[in-house]
Amino acid sequence: MNEFVTKLEELIALGEKYLVPTYRRLPVAFVKGAGCWLEDSLGRKYLDFLSGIAVNNLGYAHPKFVAALKDQIEKLIHTSNLYQIEPQARLAEILIKHSFPGKVFFSNSGAEANEAAIKLVRKWGQPQGRSKIITALQSFHGRTLTTISATGQPKYQKSFTPLTPGFAYVPYDNLTALGEAIDKETAAVMLEVVQGEGGYNIPHSDYLRMVRQLCNERGVLLVLDEVQTGIGRTGKLFAYEHTGITPDVMTLAKGLGNGVPIGATVVAEAYADVLQPGDHAATFGGNFLSSRAALTTIEIILSENLCALAASRGEYLLKGLKRETEGLPIIKDIKGLGLMVRLELNVPGQQVVDACLERGLILNCIQGNVLRFIPPLIVTNDEIDQALAILKPVLEGVRPDET
Ligand code: PLP
Repeated sequence: MNEFVTKLEELIALGEKYLVPTYRRLPVAFVKGAGCWLEDSLGRKYLDFLSGIAVNNLGYAHPKFVAALKDQIEKLIHTSNLYQIEPQARLAEILIKHSFPGKVFFSNSGAEANEAAIKLVRKWGQPQGRSKIITALQSFHGRTLTTISATGQPKYQKSFTPLTPGFAYVPYDNLTALGEAIDKETAAVMLEVVQGEGGYNIPHSDYLRMVRQLCNERGVLLVLDEVQTGIGRTGKLFAYEHTGITPDVMTLAKGLGNGVPIGATVVAEAYADVLQPGDHAATFGGNFLSSRAALTTIEIILSENLCALAASRGEYLLKGLKRETEGLPIIKDIKGLGLMVRLELNVPGQQVVDACLERGLILNCIQGNVLRFIPPLIVTNDEIDQALAILKPVLEGVRPDET
């Protein structure tokens, strides 16, 4: 039996010795959680406004989620996609019933969900000589070689050339540039509904509706990457619901399994049979454990009305952030959609993240100066007040020239 009682300094040394150093880890080891709270190995409690990067939408140790996983683990974890898997089929059914008519392919991560979408688009486009996929600058679609090629941020690509060919990038939220980029070799446009790692960029309200129209006119597919925006995060089960359109392909991961790895590629009816036996597969994709986790997550989100809750808590958080930071010279911009909220600073943000962590609030910074606030969807107004009470003095203590 593993007991995991290593002292923090020893744990840090162990990781430095044996783990490939792809992450800059903070010196904290969380050992358990409940609701929106995490506890570290020294017994300190933290309010979590990061949710494992938009993953733990139900918070920690949700009783119904834990009970379902325990039940599943005792029965079956994995058999393979050579056989029937009831929770996988039920999960596909609930996803389709709450999105658009079609079918679902399951994998294990956001990158893989996008990889499947890209393969589907390529297979669909091949007979027409269409292979190009247009994505946005500042986008993020994953870390496999093909998904960094889809990602419109050179910093993720520069050490790994040659990239997968066939991607073109246009400025986000710019319809003219997109219209000019689509040509007869274009198979699809692939976008996030709100850009995640690129800085929580929220487009104009009619952007995606116009993109949909453009795609229809030019005969190209629209792929929406909802890996970060999906599963209630923006106050709707899927963020495209804010726009009045539906995509041809939608990708999901992160919040889908509430911490159990699972990715999904949701394909509209007209394209649902493009991928045929032998075209694509994932050994673990949608196995008993991950699909039961995702099915239970969605059932809880629906039965506890967590989308509506995320919308109202998001409003409360946004208002609170604006009120508590009013007049502070280091604040550049505050915006949000549901519980996907950004606070842009005109100084580096990591100092704020570190100071908040010391005071018991977990936050994260993207693009160097954008703080993101993505608590579990179950966060209460009281917990939002507690987070603001920690954040305010930290922000007040940052000098504009302290960079
Ligand atoms: N797409 C988006 C929009 C994301 O935000 C992410 C991860 O941050 C990914 C894809 C990649 O997901 P994963 O890390 O699960 O491969």
